Amino acid sequence: MNTTWRWSVLSDGWTEAHEAVAIAGGSWRKKVRFHATAVLLEHARHGRVLFDTGYSPRFFAETARWPYRAYRQVTPVTLTEPRGILGVLERRGVPAGTVQHIIVSHWHADHVGGLRDYPQAQLHTCRAAWDSLQGLSRFAALLQAVLPGLIPEDAARRLHWISEGTDVFGDGSLTVLELPGHAVGQIGVRFLAEDGRPVLLAADACWLSAAYRENRLPHPVTRFLHDWPAYRRSLDRLHRLHLAEPELRIIPSHCPEIYPADSSPRGES
Ligand SMILES: [Zn+2]
Repeated sequence: MNTTWRWSVLSDGWTEAHEAVAIAGGSWRKKVRFHATAVLLEHARHGRVLFDTGYSPRFFAETARWPYRAYRQVTPVTLTEPRGILGVLERRGVPAGTVQHIIVSHWHADHVGGLRDYPQAQLHTCRAAWDSLQGLSRFAALLQAVLPGLIPEDAARRLHWISEGTDVFGDGSLTVLELPGHAVGQIGVRFLAEDGRPVLLAADACWLSAAYRENRLPHPVTRFLHDWPAYRRSLDRLHRLHLAEPELRIIPSHCPEIYPADSSPRGES
C-alpha cells in the first residue's frame, strides 16, 4: 500500500515585513519576504490535493475599494504569477481541473485567494474557522484578514469538516492537527513524504522556522491579530514536536527557508 505523498511548495506572490514583527528579538532594519505558498500533494490513489491556494489576481480585485483596500496597504503584495497558483500548476503540467481536494488551513486572503479556480474540488476545513466567517460586517472581516469575495458561493456545499486527528482519506496517510491562535480554527496536516520522512504543514502557526525551533513568539504588536494564549500553545506544540522528532520537517507557510526569494523552493521531494 502506498501511503506516501509527493509534495511541492508553490508560490504566486509575496509581501514583506520587518523581521522584528515576525519574531521576538528580530531586527527592525531587516525586511523579510513572505511568499504566499500553496503545497501540491500528489498520491497514487488519492490524486491531487492542494493545501491552500495563494493570493491569485483576485486579491487585487477584492482590495480595490475601501474598506478592503486597507488590506493591501498594510501588506502590499507583489504577484509573481499573473494567473496565481493556477498558472504555476499549469506550467508544471497540472491542469487545475485535476485538483480533487483543497485543504484550507485558515481563511485569510493569502491562503484562499485562488479558491475560485477549483470549482470541482472538495473543500476541507475546521468548522470553527468556517463558523467564524459567518455574519461578519465588512470591517470585522477586514480585521480578521478575510476578503469575503474570495469565497465561492457554493463553498458550503463542498465543505467537509476536519479537526484534531481527522484521518482525511481513512488510511492514515494525511492527518490533521489543530493549530489555532493565528486564526480561529487554523489547522495543519501531517503526512509521510516519498523519501520516508514525515512532513507537517504548519500554516501560519509561526512565520519563521526559527520561531518553532527556538519557541519565539512574534512581536507583541501582533497581539491584536491573534488569540495570544492559543498562539502560544500552538507554537509550543510545534517546538515540542521539533524536539521530540528531529526528522519531522515542519513547514510554516511563509518562511523564507521554505521558499527563498528568487530561487527554487526547498523542501520538495
Ligand atoms: Zn498567511
